[in-house]
Amino acid sequence: QAKEMGRNQYRSFTESLHDQLQTYLQFSREMPKALEADHFCLLYQPQVDLSTGSIVSVEALIRWEHSELGIVSPNEFIPVAEETGFIVTLGRWVFATACEMIHRLNSRTETPIRIAINLSSRQFRDPGLLDMVRDIIEEYQVDPGWIEVEITESLLMQDISSAIETLTELQALGLTIAIDDFGIGYSSFNYLKTLPINVLKVDREFIKDIPNHQDDMEITAAIISMAHRLNLTVVAEGIETDVQRRFLEEQRCNVGQGYLFSRPVTYENLVSLLEVPGATQESAKGSIIPVI
Ligand code: C2E
Ligand code: MG
Ligand code: MG
Ligand code: MG
Repeated sequence: QAKEMGRNQYRSFTESLHDQLQTYLQFSREMPKALEADHFCLLYQPQVDLSTGSIVSVEALIRWEHSELGIVSPNEFIPVAEETGFIVTLGRWVFATACEMIHRLNSRTETPIRIAINLSSRQFRDPGLLDMVRDIIEEYQVDPGWIEVEITESLLMQDISSAIETLTELQALGLTIAIDDFGIGYSSFNYLKTLPINVLKVDREFIKDIPNHQDDMEITAAIISMAHRLNLTVVAEGIETDVQRRFLEEQRCNVGQGYLFSRPVTYENLVSLLEVPGATQESAKGSIIPVI
C-alpha cells in the first residue's frame, strides 16, 4: 500500500495536464459504477490513548479497489468526487458503512470505541447533511456519542457563520467534532475558541520530523498546550516512532494515531486487534498495544 501511494504521488507530480484531465474524466465516469459494484471499501486506523495505550477510536479511511489500477488512494479520487458532486453520494455510503461497522463492533466489545469519519467541504455544506446523519444513526442504532466527524480548517474558513451553525447542530445530535490536519491552514487560535469543536488533530507535517526539527517540536508543544486551554482533546497524526510517541506523551498530547500503533486495517483485523489482549499486529508494524 505504501508502495502504491508512493507510485501515485510520483504519478501526480509527473503527469501532464492532458493525463490529469484523462484521469479526471475516467474517475468521474467510473466512480458511480464502482460504488454500485461494491468496489469501495473502508479501512480503520486505531487512535490510541497515549496515557493508557488503549484504542479509544478508529478513523474510517476509504479505498477504491479499481479493476485495472489496483488500490487507488483517496488523495486521488476524493478531489474528483468533490469536484463532480459525487462526494455527497459516496459520503453517505461512507457514513452508513462506518456506522454499521461501529454498531457491529461495539456490540462485541465491553468498552465502546468511537468511529471518526472524514467530511469533505461539499458534504459539509450539503443541505441534506443533518437529515443524512439522523437517518443513518437511526437506521443502524448507533449511539451518537460513538461518532466523531473530522473536518479541515480550510473548510471552516469558507463560510464561518454557516459552519458554526452546522457544527452546533451536529453537536446537538451528540456527535464529536474534530478539526483535521490542524496547523497547515490559516486558522488562528483566536477564531478556534469561537467554534463549537471538541478535538484538534495536529497534522502529520509537524510530527514527522520529530526529534530532528526543533521548530516542529516547539510548535507542536505550543499547539497542544493552547488546545488544552481551550478544553480541546488533542490527537497527533502520523506517529511512526517511539521517540515521537514519548515526546507527545510528555507534552500531554491525549491521543496518537500512526503506523507505530497500526496502519489502517480491515474490520476483521481490527476485531482481532481489539479482542486479543496484548496481541501484536501481524499485518502492520508490530507494536504491542494493551487493548481495552
Ligand atoms: P486524513 O484524514 O488526514 O487521514 C490521515 C492519512 O494519513 C491517511 O491517509 C492515513 O493512512 C495516513 N497515515 C496515518 N498514519 C500515518 C503514518 O504514521 N505515516 C504516514 N506516512 N501516513 C499515515 P489516506 O488513508 O491515504 O487518506 C488520505 C486522505 O484522504 C485523508 O487524510 C482524508 O483527507 C481523505 N479521506 C480518506 N477517507 C475519506 C473519506 O471517507 N471521506 C472523505 N471525505 N475523505 C477521506
Ligand atoms: Mg482525517
Ligand atoms: Mg488528518
Ligand atoms: Mg493529514
